[in-house]
Amino acid sequence: MAAPFTSLEAQWIIQFNAPFILENHTLVINESHIVDILPTADARQKYPTNIIVELQEHALVPGFINTHNHAAMTLFRGMADDLPLMTWLNDHIWPAEGKWVQEEFVKDGTKLAIAEMLLSGTTTFSDMYFFPEAAAKVVEDAGIKAQLCTPIMEFPTAWGSGPDEYIKKTEQLLEQYKAHPRITIAAGPHAPYTVSDETFVKCIKLKDKYNCKLQVHLHETQFEVDESVKQHQMTPIDRLNKLGVLDNDTQCVHMTSLTDANITSISESGAHIIHCPESNLKLASGLSPINKAQHANINIALGTDGAASNNDLDMLSEARSAAFLAKAVSSDATALSAIEALKAATINGAKALGIDEKTGSLETGKLADIIAIDLSPLHCQPVYDPISQIIYASRSDQITNVWSEGQRLVENRKLTKMNTAEIINQAKAWASKIKEANK
Ligand SMILES: [Zn+2]
Repeated sequence: MAAPFTSLEAQWIIQFNAPFILENHTLVINESHIVDILPTADARQKYPTNIIVELQEHALVPGFINTHNHAAMTLFRGMADDLPLMTWLNDHIWPAEGKWVQEEFVKDGTKLAIAEMLLSGTTTFSDMYFFPEAAAKVVEDAGIKAQLCTPIMEFPTAWGSGPDEYIKKTEQLLEQYKAHPRITIAAGPHAPYTVSDETFVKCIKLKDKYNCKLQVHLHETQFEVDESVKQHQMTPIDRLNKLGVLDNDTQCVHMTSLTDANITSISESGAHIIHCPESNLKLASGLSPINKAQHANINIALGTDGAASNNDLDMLSEARSAAFLAKAVSSDATALSAIEALKAATINGAKALGIDEKTGSLETGKLADIIAIDLSPLHCQPVYDPISQIIYASRSDQITNVWSEGQRLVENRKLTKMNTAEIINQAKAWASKIKEANK
């Protein structure tokens, strides 16, 4: 027997092509894909036997794509706040990682992150953390999609002895997951200040051999730029450009302190900017000139960064912060409009990860990665423009239902495949262990 079709009857469906807002329309799902979008009156006639999900006063938008995360770091959430990047890393995060990070930690932390991401509407994320093989197992069970970037750097960690071992492990994972429908592996050379020229060149070879993506933290702070100029007589962007790292398969995370020449190099290379406004603000890392970059035709995607520097994984609030920050930095209230912020959180992320033909917008033929946002609460009234209401007035707990590849992973605010109580208990157990050891 054929799988039943499902009709999502919504008040609004948001698209990225005119007319942008469809009112009183139905989106039809068959198995993993969107197969039709049409007026609800017509859908009831055309599909009389469909399972109907009534979503009154709801808007349907594509599932969010969180393009930069260190998922397992949710277990360090709130452990070391109100510190600048290098103090935070050197004195707190790296020692804690040295002590605690192993497979079990990554498994439990990634589970907590995925549960939080699903409940706040993320259906695809990119991760960069140790033991990606442990994260992959959690992703597989949870039903979410992920790009897992293997961390590559010069120094030893619990995951490996140095760059050669990290690269070897990356190759093994690239082989293992090459045909996986929801997991892709990418190379994650950590940052210009932790990766040598020689290792960057090895990463390029890997990228060419396996046709994989590469994600790198780049221009996170002015300090990073100044040190690079001292050591290499050029900005990190110029150094990576010279090495051949930057092209359409490269995702550059943070990108603060950019000169006009840097923006031109990125634009010409086709590389993507992964903008993490809340992490940049919290660590006072610097400001990313998103408006200028956008006008230079650079694709801008959004990421939360890890929960230890944000401190949540909420893409709706990230999109709002991105819109506000773009306006403040450029002194231009028209910068990153509501629809542009929504695109940065969805289709632009899909472009950066190279999956925009499959997901990132609500279109017939694409994967059914969909979230339903309830716009009925008082603080969203009245609704003149649902897109404006989503970005500027909504909170992520208004996301009532989430479908990933047609699977309903959140149903009326409840996770359907994950055990919330167990995940919370595991997080609490880790925190007591860590607190006890720090006494
Ligand atoms: Zn990061």
